[in-house]
Amino acid sequence: ALARARDLAPRLAARAAGHDTAGTFPAADFADLRAAGLLGLLVPTRLGGTGAGFADYTAVAAELAAGAGATALIYNMHASVTGALAHTPDDLARELGAPDSFFSARDRMLRRAAEGALYAVAMSERGAGSRLSRLTTAYRRTEHGYRITGTKSFVSGAGHADAYLVAARDRTADEPRVSYFLVPAGDGVRVDPVWDSLGMRATGSHDLHLDTEVPAEALLGGIEGIALPMAQVMPQWLVASYAAVYAGVARAALDTAAAHLRERGLHTLPAVRARLGRADAAVAAARLTVDEAARRVTEQPGEPATNRWVWRAKLTAGDTAAAVASSALEAAGASATRRGHPLERLYRDARCGALQPATSDVCADWLGIAALGGDPEHDGEAPRW
Ligand SMILES: Cc1cc2nc3c(=O)[nH]c(=O)nc-3n(C[C@H](O)[C@H](O)[C@H](O)COP(=O)(O)OP(=O)(O)OC[C@H]3O[C@@H](n4cnc5c(N)ncnc54)[C@H](O)[C@@H]3O)c2cc1C
Repeated sequence: ALARARDLAPRLAARAAGHDTAGTFPAADFADLRAAGLLGLLVPTRLGGTGAGFADYTAVAAELAAGAGATALIYNMHASVTGALAHTPDDLARELGAPDSFFSARDRMLRRAAEGALYAVAMSERGAGSRLSRLTTAYRRTEHGYRITGTKSFVSGAGHADAYLVAARDRTADEPRVSYFLVPAGDGVRVDPVWDSLGMRATGSHDLHLDTEVPAEALLGGIEGIALPMAQVMPQWLVASYAAVYAGVARAALDTAAAHLRERGLHTLPAVRARLGRADAAVAAARLTVDEAARRVTEQPGEPATNRWVWRAKLTAGDTAAAVASSALEAAGASATRRGHPLERLYRDARCGALQPATSDVCADWLGIAALGGDPEHDGEAPRW
């Protein structure tokens, strides 16, 4: 899978500028990913997938991101859905209360991904961001399943996904009881094409209006109220799957700057070289942090020390991408700020890493509480999610 991702990266890179300018979904990239079997990367082999783990995913995502950050970011959303479904141990699912019917529904969802279905994530909302406890999209039980109503924002791949992971709250509960549903595209799911943003423009992260009824099996885990506990038990999919993407974007900024500096004959200037040297060290450090988090997630999932690395990885990758792209642009000079120059796009794409959940500030607060010996999930003034 890694070799296939590496082969595809130059093709994605060649299309990235066009999709960035137009703000359009990279359909040809996803045709390539589908043909290469990468939509089934995290699906177990018994269901037709590659059976990869979190560490494999991070390596693949970083390669794709070095080609086109936006494509890798959409892919990350699909990986979060399939990875969380595939990697939740059956025992843990049962412990959380999953009924027997969940396991066959889960297998169907995963098999469809291995066959080429694309899943997107519709969690964020205007006014609430990604704070699950503040969501207003609501569901209520019906005779055959659930009725979901509300509006989502920032839905990467909207209009091109086969189904959306929708986070919604129980309209009848007093406490914020937030559940996940896999909602198929189609009737009752309307895309509002409003996306026109600074960076990662090719993600096509439009708004989504929901007024739809889904069958009971669309409830993920078969359990209501699973969203908040999952964020704590398996933070890698909510907190750190982006980290690999931004580690890849940081590397692309470094490589692109090096090519530009040679081409312009600027590489002989010591101050310019020193910027590249610092960027090189920062990119390597971010990648090692991501790899260490991924290794621990694979070997010791859910351990407190593992989760701490997960938060470190998100913080480090997001901040490094922004800092490296900014410094690389300064080393490259004003000519690289022209629209259409790859560093100009990378600078804008890299700026998004720290803003995605958990934001760098939220990661830093979480890690600060942990460093002070506190409980980062529960200490602090505001709810984490
Ligand atoms: C390119 C891109 C693609 C995206 N794709 C998707 C997608 O596919 N699906 C999806 O659901 N969302 C997606 N998002 C949305 C994104 O992941 C965030 O949910 C969204 O950016 C947050 O919304 P917000 O602008 O209201 O900012 P917020 O995250 O609400 O942040 C505003 C400020 O509040 C702070 N803050 C936030 N939460 C806390 C907290 N708990 N405690 C203390 N401070 C806090 C932040 O640090 C920040 O300073 C995408 C975003 C981008 C930029």
